[in-house]
Amino acid sequence: MRRIFIFLGPPGAGKGTQAEMFGAERGLPHISTGAMLRASMDAGTALGNKVKAIVDSGSLVSDTLMIDLIRDRILQSDCSHGFLLDGFPRTTPQAEALDVLLKETSEKIEAAVLFNISEEVLMSRLSARRTTENRADDTTETQLKRIKVYEEQTAPLINYYKEKSLLVSIDSDGTVDEVKSRLLNVFPLDSSATFPNTRSVSNQN
Ligand code: ADP
Repeated sequence: MRRIFIFLGPPGAGKGTQAEMFGAERGLPHISTGAMLRASMDAGTALGNKVKAIVDSGSLVSDTLMIDLIRDRILQSDCSHGFLLDGFPRTTPQAEALDVLLKETSEKIEAAVLFNISEEVLMSRLSARRTTENRADDTTETQLKRIKVYEEQTAPLINYYKEKSLLVSIDSDGTVDEVKSRLLNVFPLDSSATFPNTRSVSNQN
């Protein structure tokens, strides 16, 4: 059975950093749709050229396009033991499409991991990222737009996965290593554990 994880959280919550490390620790490919789109844009592929204006403005690429992209990606051989999705699903139709895909192969999502963060920490991380990473979609204006898009289109997925008892909330106010160890504790190496209840993880437990 493949181990399938979804990482959810607002831009700046640190999910990309954690997804990279968690994937490496657990031997699962880290599938970042944002990174896939940026690679296509940098390479100037047909897909990249098609989505550039949308991504740079902070809006979302169409569900159909993203679903096609993920459908192909999770069939690749490096996903044979599982995979970790970072940045997908981002809308309810994307989440529903993923459910349909996994139903075809009788597979289940192990957890939808929500990176919880206070607004204050979020804003200071985003402003730091503007200076260090210099991404075209990281201007103040675009970042605010992306937070708004997150609230409107992605945050409803929190309830979507809560209702399916798949939501695991991780406190991400902390150092990279603190958050990392929280994650590794909740999802041990060979766990086939299921999560009957929504759980919340912080330093205290
Ligand atoms: P961040 O990690 O900063 O939240 P990402 O790197 O995941 O952002 O994504 C950057 C941009 O790529 C998004 O703002 C959006 O335009 C596009 N994108 C990435 N994933 C998706 C998706 N699943 N659906 C639609 N658009 C997406």
